[in-house]
Amino acid sequence: MEKKDILVTGDRPTGNLHLGHYVGTLENRIKLQDQFDCFFLIADLHMLTTHNERVDELRLNIESLVIDWISVGLDPNNSCFYLQSLVPEINELTLLLSMICSVPRVQRIPTLKEKTSQLGDNENYSVGLLSYPILMSADILIFNAKKVPVGEDQLSHVELARELSRRFNSLYGYTITEPEPLISEFSRLVGIDGKSKMSKSLNNCIYLIDNQEEVNKKVMKMFTDPNRTSPDIPGKVEGNPVFIYHDIFNQNKAEVDEFKERYKKGKIGDVEVKKSLAKNINVFLEPIRERRSQLKKNRSEIFDIIIDGSTRARKLAKENIDRIKDSMKINFKEI
Ligand code: ATP
Ligand code: MG
Repeated sequence: MEKKDILVTGDRPTGNLHLGHYVGTLENRIKLQDQFDCFFLIADLHMLTTHNERVDELRLNIESLVIDWISVGLDPNNSCFYLQSLVPEINELTLLLSMICSVPRVQRIPTLKEKTSQLGDNENYSVGLLSYPILMSADILIFNAKKVPVGEDQLSHVELARELSRRFNSLYGYTITEPEPLISEFSRLVGIDGKSKMSKSLNNCIYLIDNQEEVNKKVMKMFTDPNRTSPDIPGKVEGNPVFIYHDIFNQNKAEVDEFKERYKKGKIGDVEVKKSLAKNINVFLEPIRERRSQLKKNRSEIFDIIIDGSTRARKLAKENIDRIKDSMKINFKEI
């Protein structure tokens, strides 16, 4: 069998996944899982970089993340689902890479700047947060990954991993594969508030776990064209969340076009457009819900999947860290 390139990507177990995750990453992963040897990371250590107090919820979050993954169609028999903390070689590599990475270099990462400024007091963030970009590089480099799917906003992380692999190789001899980003087309799905991207912490999400009534309620509340106080006022379609969602989740393109035409002429009410949208989101979520309820009946299987995946990931990580330490001449096995 032909050997496939390794691909690494993953999520932090910080809560349930939503439609933004689906269109932003999950849909792409489903397509990539046959093409590549995929390693899907459950990044529990990354959760600690910003939520060090939330350890009680970790186990449940890890379980629900894996349930979300499988229920949308990621296949643990085909790809490797692994838990970061069960592969300690990642930490070992993080430390080694931190020796060849300068502090200003990580401080230039835009996402780190964003995170530290969100915390308010810029002086008051952990070393763990400062070094999370190096941990992320180690997540990728430990497997000699060739591809890393990312949105534009995450590119700087892959750029650091590329730089560190080059620096390592030029210092110690060619050992680590230089990864490449696989840029996904879809950018950001706006939340139901119409203001910012759908995000757990902004309370503007439709979750994959939401039931029919929850979806109906959320869609009915969804922001539309604020100038349209009655159905006979011509409305704006561009940038209108209800139509952004219709374009993604309504498979009947002719119906969407017809809604748009009538909306622009003031010949359809928001309620009709929203009812159809809610129906279509529910049609999309139904098979996901079914798979979820099957999985929930067999919860112990979920941790078996994680253990199996982590064991496989660790085997490869051990081989690679050995090579890396050999190159660095710090592999004193006989002592
Ligand atoms: P938090 O509010 O805790 O930041 P979140 O809901 O924004 O949570 P993240 O864990 O930050 O979710 O997102 C992980 C990844 O999922 C992002 O890097 C991005 O690729 C994708 N993603 C998240 N939200 C969206 C969205 N609204 N549209 C497209 N992609 C998204
Ligand atoms: Mg976020």
